[in-house]
Amino acid sequence: MTGFVCDHCGKCCRSLGRYIGIERQLSEGDYYCKNTLSGEVFPVHVAPEFAEEIDEDFSSGTPGSHEGCIFLRKDPKGPGHVCAIHATRPRICREFRCYHMVISDAKGAPVGRMVGRADIQTSDPVLARVWNEEVKPLPCPAAPACDPSWVERVSAILAAHGYRGETVE
Ligand code: SF4
Ligand code: SF4
Repeated sequence: MTGFVCDHCGKCCRSLGRYIGIERQLSEGDYYCKNTLSGEVFPVHVAPEFAEEIDEDFSSGTPGSHEGCIFLRKDPKGPGHVCAIHATRPRICREFRCYHMVISDAKGAPVGRMVGRADIQTSDPVLARVWNEEVKPLPCPAAPACDPSWVERVSAILAAHGYRGETVE
């Protein structure tokens, strides 16, 4: 297993973030929110540097600087995006992974990622062919990266071609 690394692209927050709604404002930086998919209600605390702008967006009824989630903000320290409620973000956000396996070549360099249910994201044409011809046709469980027998079969296929697959935590 390897650790999940978020690139802070903000893509997931523009999709699953649509289901994060504010139920009630408690103070400038504190809100009760609801995951409208699961029904989970949770308190959140906004990082001080974003409290005023989010308060203004919420009060004026605008969704913020991005479609999706009002708590998604541009990173003031550089490129990319940040979650203004990172420490108190809901479970759906904590558990989300936009890729489930990292594939490395014989030298240990990462050359691909498994995304979605069992799709490959790679610029390596050999890996793309191996995945599409040998991995994709396998019976695919609902959560393949959590299925030890599927992971074992895929790892064996990759190893036979000089690659190594590691699921992410
Ligand atoms: S979890 Fe993935 S999609 Fe979401 S911000 Fe991070 S890199 Fe982007
Ligand atoms: S709460 Fe944070 S992590 Fe979750 S969708 Fe909104 S900005 Fe993204």
